[in-house]
Amino acid sequence: MLASVIDHRPQALRAPHGANWIEIDWPDAKARRIPTVILRGYCPCAHCQGHGGPIEFQPGRDSDLIDLGEVGNYALRFGWGDGHDSGLYSFSYLRALSDLYQEHGDKLPEAIPQLHRG
Ligand SMILES: [Zn+2]
Repeated sequence: MLASVIDHRPQALRAPHGANWIEIDWPDAKARRIPTVILRGYCPCAHCQGHGGPIEFQPGRDSDLIDLGEVGNYALRFGWGDGHDSGLYSFSYLRALSDLYQEHGDKLPEAIPQLHRG
């Protein structure tokens, strides 16, 4: 039997206009908030991170969330106030950020300035 794949699909997502967080209901963890500054700082795209290597938290980026959409049934794309929208956040990456934020809170960027991919 194959190892079961953990279901990382958000069941619901709330991103109230003007809020500085999003809230996700995961199958096993409801109402988990992630601040937009955390999402933006850990944007995994090549523009923010270059190619390869760990994902480094980028402080001071625009974290006004103005757009959000699902991509290909596996990821979310966020659009930010400065027009940046090339970051694709796979559901598993979002879940990892959510769990890390749950553990470290606002000190996450200090505690874990670099995330390893995958
Ligand atoms: Zn980016």
